[in-house]
Amino acid sequence: MNDPIFAIIEKEKQRQSEGLELIPSENYVSENVLKAMGSILTNKYSEGYPKLRYYGGNENIDQAETLAIERAKQLFHADHANVQPHSGANANEAVYFAWCKPGDTILAMSLPAGGHLTHGSPVTRSAKIYNFVGYGVTEDGDIDYDELEKLALEHQPQIILVGYSAFMKIPDFDRVAKVAAKVAEQSGHEVLLMADMAHVAGLIAGGVHPNPLEHGFHVMTSTTHKTLRGPRGGLIVSMGKVGNPLKKTERKLENIPTLIDRAVFPGTQGGPLEHVIAAKAVAFEEDLQPEFKEYAANIVKNAKALAEALKAEGFKLQGDGTDNHLILVDVKSSFGINGKLYEYALDKIGLTLNANALPTDKGAAFRPSGVRLGTPAMTTRGLGPDEMEQIAKWMKQVAEICAKAGDNKGLANYDGELDKLHKEVKDFALRFPVPGIN
Ligand SMILES: *Cc1c(COP(=O)(O)O)cnc(C)c1O
Repeated sequence: MNDPIFAIIEKEKQRQSEGLELIPSENYVSENVLKAMGSILTNKYSEGYPKLRYYGGNENIDQAETLAIERAKQLFHADHANVQPHSGANANEAVYFAWCKPGDTILAMSLPAGGHLTHGSPVTRSAKIYNFVGYGVTEDGDIDYDELEKLALEHQPQIILVGYSAFMKIPDFDRVAKVAAKVAEQSGHEVLLMADMAHVAGLIAGGVHPNPLEHGFHVMTSTTHKTLRGPRGGLIVSMGKVGNPLKKTERKLENIPTLIDRAVFPGTQGGPLEHVIAAKAVAFEEDLQPEFKEYAANIVKNAKALAEALKAEGFKLQGDGTDNHLILVDVKSSFGINGKLYEYALDKIGLTLNANALPTDKGAAFRPSGVRLGTPAMTTRGLGPDEMEQIAKWMKQVAEICAKAGDNKGLANYDGELDKLHKEVKDFALRFPVPGIN
C-alpha cells in the first residue's frame, strides 16, 4: 500500500465527500458495483460472445455477460443488447460502422445545439469517415423539427440520430420516425433510426422519459455511468432478429442486432472488459428495482426545483427550464461573466460543474457563455428540493463575486469570501454521505 496511487485515491474520496457534484454526466455507484468492478474477472480474456468465444475457460464469464445482456434487454424492452462497448463513444462508432460505408451521410444534432462530440465533430475519427449533417434547435430550445425534416429530405441520410449532451426537452421520437419513413420512401434505402440516450438512459429505465425503442427507433446507445449509475462504459440495445454474430449478415434493418454485434467485436474492439460487464449487470439489476423509479422521478423533481430557484436568483436558463436532469445557464446575459471563470470560481467553493457553450455562442468554445449542471449525483446522495434552493443561493453569491472580479486574477482578491463559502459547502456536503465511501 506504499504506492502513492492509494494516497491519491484517498484524497479523491475526500474531494468527492466534501464537494457537491453538479456535473450532469456524473454519478456515484453502489458498493456492489465497485465490488464487481474491482474483481478478478479482469484477469480473463473472452473475445467473442457468450458460448462463442475464442478462448477457453469462459464458463463463468459467459454467465455474467448473459445476465448483463438479459437485464439490459428487460430494462429497455429491447430484442437485443450488446454490453461490450468500452464507452459511449465506442458504442456510437460501432453503430455507425454496423450500418454505414465510408462517405455515407448521418444526420445528427450539431454540437453547438447540444449534440455530442461523437455526433460528427470534425476532430473525431467518425467525422473523417462519414459525412455528418447537423440540425439545430429553435429559440425556445426544442429540436428544430422543420429543419431536421428539410435536411433529411435534402441529404437522404443512412442514419438519423437523436441524441444530446445539453438539451433540456423531451424529443418527439414519433415525429422523427415519420421523417425517416419519408426519406426511405423517397430514396429507396432503409434509414436507421438511432437514439444516443447516454444522458437520459436512467430516466428511461426509471419510466420518467419515453423509450425511443417504443417509438419506432431501431437502436439506442448509451453510457452506463451517467443516470444509469453503473460503471464507466457503453451499451447498445436494439430491435430486430438476433443471429449468429460470427457469421456474415445481410445489411438489412431487421438484422441490426447481429450487425451491431459484429461491429463491436471484431469490428471496433478486442477483448471485452468482463469485470466492468459484471458491474454493468449489478447496476442494471439495481435499475430494475422499484426504488430506481423513485430515484429517476426525484432527479427530474430536483432539476425542476433547481431551475426555478436559479431563475428566482436572477439566472437566465436556456429553454427557460428543464424537462430532464439538465440545466444550461446563460451566465453571460445573467451576470455578464463567462462560463470558464464561473466554473473555476465555483470549483474553489466545492461546487463542481462545467462551462458549456450556448447554441447562440459563435466559435466561443474557449469562452463559453454558459455552464451546464444537473441533478443525478446530488439526488443519489439524497438531496431534495430544499437543498436545491441552497445551491442556487451559493451560485448567485459566486456569480456576483465573479462579476466584481472580472477574471481569474481578479478573483484572488476575493479568496476570503470564497473560503468562507467553501467551508459552508463542505459542512453541508458532509451531511450527505457518498455511497461506497466510509
Ligand atoms: C457522454 C456521452 C457520450 C460519450 O460517452 P463516453 O463514455 O464519454 O465515451 C456519447 N454520447 C452522448 C450523448 C453523451 O452524453
